[in-house]
Amino acid sequence: MSDFTIDKKDIEAEEKQMALYLHIPFCKKPQRCIYCDFFSTTQGSEWRRKYTERLCQEIAERRDEALSRPLSSIYFGGGTPSQLSFNELQQIWEAIRKYYKIQPDAEITIEVNPDDISREYVQNLRLLGFNRVSMGVQTFNDRLLQVIQRRHSSNQAKEAIQILHDAGFHNLSIDLIYGLPGQTIENFEKDLDTALQMPITHLSAYTLMVENGTKLHQMVENGELELPSEEVCLNMFEILCRKTRDNGFLQYEISNFSRPGFESRHNSSYWQGTPYIGVGAGAHSYDGKIIRRMNKADLKAYIDAKDHVPHENEELKEKELYNEFIFTRLRTRKGLSLEQLYRKFSAQYTEDFNHTLTKHLREGNICKDNGDFVRLTHQGIMISNDVMSDFMAI
Ligand code: SF4
Repeated sequence: MSDFTIDKKDIEAEEKQMALYLHIPFCKKPQRCIYCDFFSTTQGSEWRRKYTERLCQEIAERRDEALSRPLSSIYFGGGTPSQLSFNELQQIWEAIRKYYKIQPDAEITIEVNPDDISREYVQNLRLLGFNRVSMGVQTFNDRLLQVIQRRHSSNQAKEAIQILHDAGFHNLSIDLIYGLPGQTIENFEKDLDTALQMPITHLSAYTLMVENGTKLHQMVENGELELPSEEVCLNMFEILCRKTRDNGFLQYEISNFSRPGFESRHNSSYWQGTPYIGVGAGAHSYDGKIIRRMNKADLKAYIDAKDHVPHENEELKEKELYNEFIFTRLRTRKGLSLEQLYRKFSAQYTEDFNHTLTKHLREGNICKDNGDFVRLTHQGIMISNDVMSDFMAI
């Protein structure tokens, strides 16, 4: 893991980044995936039309927040952005191009669902300027896809990946979930083998989270579904780290793996604390300093808003900034810059940090890279929640 070098230029480059996130809260099926707690709706085309118009208006209203910086990444997330028609996507693109500067090599991603992918739709995505696609596959096992009530099959996902690749999308990411109800280690190994044979450059893999209020939560509580044990999930994570590494992927963040040079710039901007503007109902923004903004997750209120869309601003205190700094930086392979830490935070925080750092360096959970950076070792990654919570200021 020593093929990664960092210097001050990387930090300076990060300080020039500016990301734009667009939340598209539409989803096709009347029935949601059982684990889903994202803000999304199955409202029809009239709502999509109105939402697109209001989104374009918000893009215009918030142009000054880009601070004249060209956008380094643009991310259409959801919900299911591939539920928008070519015309709706084009309308949004026109607003972005009209009001923002975009870096010539900007990373421009759209999240898609496999069953929305056709050759024609993909050609249109190319025409619009998208250069990266992130697809929610979750598993290649048809039985498990049915259990979690996804609306695609394993074959549809494989075909969609091939269609995207054939159309020239060579920066392709897929999402997998492990720890699914009834999933065995063998099932997950098969998922990984299938994924790593596909022409993908990026893989995000998360453990299934059982969120309150979801159908999954209810089914687990009622005993209708049983989840694999924590030990099995840890085993799956170990296999995930090994198989991706053996296939030439870098674990550049705890749950994110890429071929060298294909790390997600957009996601990295969240982990590096660079500013981002989030537009759309329910979208979050961060000014890179102390203000976090949350747009209200209310579709009707969003569409009906005359001037500014309903939102709340939160001013982050030093403790929150410190905890977030630790939590986001230590998730990454690049790690945490000690120079940045000492520059940003007062002795009250850095003294405790040094104390905890000494303990974890000694125990082998953290190592030092290039003097200035500290990062989790593989052993530390396996118990990352415990290590990170040790650093948190209470
Ligand atoms: S497709 Fe995505 S947004 Fe829609 S229900 Fe499933 S997880 Fe939620």
